[in-house]
Amino acid sequence: LALGASAALALGLVSCASGGGDGGDDALADCNVGISMPTRSLERWINDGEQLKALLDDAGCTTDLQYADNQVNQQISQIQNQIAGGAKILVIAAIDGEALGPVLEEAAGQEATVIAYDRLINGSENVDYYATFDNYQVGQLQGQFIIDQLGLDDGEGPFNLEPFAGSPDDNNAAFFFGGAWDLLLPYVEGGQLVVPSGRAPSSSAGWASIGIPGWASDDAQAEMDNRLTSFYTGGERVDVVLSPNDSLALGIEASLRSAGYTVGEDWPIVTGQDADVANVQAILAGEQAMTVWKDTRALGNQVFEMIQSIDAGEEPEINDTETYDNGVKVVPSYLLEPEVVVADDVESKLVDSGFIDADDLGL
Ligand code: BGC
Repeated sequence: LALGASAALALGLVSCASGGGDGGDDALADCNVGISMPTRSLERWINDGEQLKALLDDAGCTTDLQYADNQVNQQISQIQNQIAGGAKILVIAAIDGEALGPVLEEAAGQEATVIAYDRLINGSENVDYYATFDNYQVGQLQGQFIIDQLGLDDGEGPFNLEPFAGSPDDNNAAFFFGGAWDLLLPYVEGGQLVVPSGRAPSSSAGWASIGIPGWASDDAQAEMDNRLTSFYTGGERVDVVLSPNDSLALGIEASLRSAGYTVGEDWPIVTGQDADVANVQAILAGEQAMTVWKDTRALGNQVFEMIQSIDAGEEPEINDTETYDNGVKVVPSYLLEPEVVVADDVESKLVDSGFIDADDLGL
């Protein structure tokens, strides 16, 4: 259930309606929150950060929002500053899921509560909660989409598939690939899907070998260029590309364009995730078949509710206590449900809900 900021206010979920932290008895007590986001280069993180900050500011919290340019050290020093500034709650979307142990020790030193946001933080006991979309399900939606579109269950094929995976330092990337590959691998083994580049892990555990560092569009484009020029020399065509997210999909689509693929003729199925504006435009133009939409507003609302509970000295709502083992502990999690968006849903799901402006899509 996604509540907008104003809906949350109307329902009385936020007790202090005036910003500024000077509210009366109702204000969230002692609410000092540091929000640490990985980068401004991807639209989703800008939306994520700004939306959560607005909810917290409205509730009278002291809020510090930082973006780290995808640089691990920058993220660490930003979190250190937030700790020095008295943060009682840290909301962190980690760049490198393994690198934050020492700084979280510092956070524990002042009894700050740490919420891993969207991406799990590994190897530390000082991660209190995790809020995310069901990452394995994201991959399953991509894999099932490919199976359905190609008619693999009806025995169709063989089709040429090129699989990609996300950044090797992002814990989510393993879940995305696993969800898709656990569904697709049987068809690869059975010969209905063929991977001409050979870049097909023999199990989902091998995903990092085809991971694109930093989720960079340029690197995905270069990798796709390389596969097309090296393995498609005898007139073969790509039928389908498993892209774990929208930033990779953009690079892959640029590569397909320069290799001469044409929409409506031989353009392959390309998957994605995030519903970034550029990719939704690509969906409307027929260059991308789908995206897995994660309504970042719902994630922000969920984290906001967690913060309200923590602030009130209560346990936040959790709906998964099994999946996200960070190597030291299983982190209590709240998982939201992602959903598929195709061209026909753009208006009803993305525009009507206010996630994207019709103007940005030329609608
Ligand atoms: C997020 C995705 C995003 C990717 C690249 C992942 O951790 O879950 O939504 O596309 O990072 O920023």
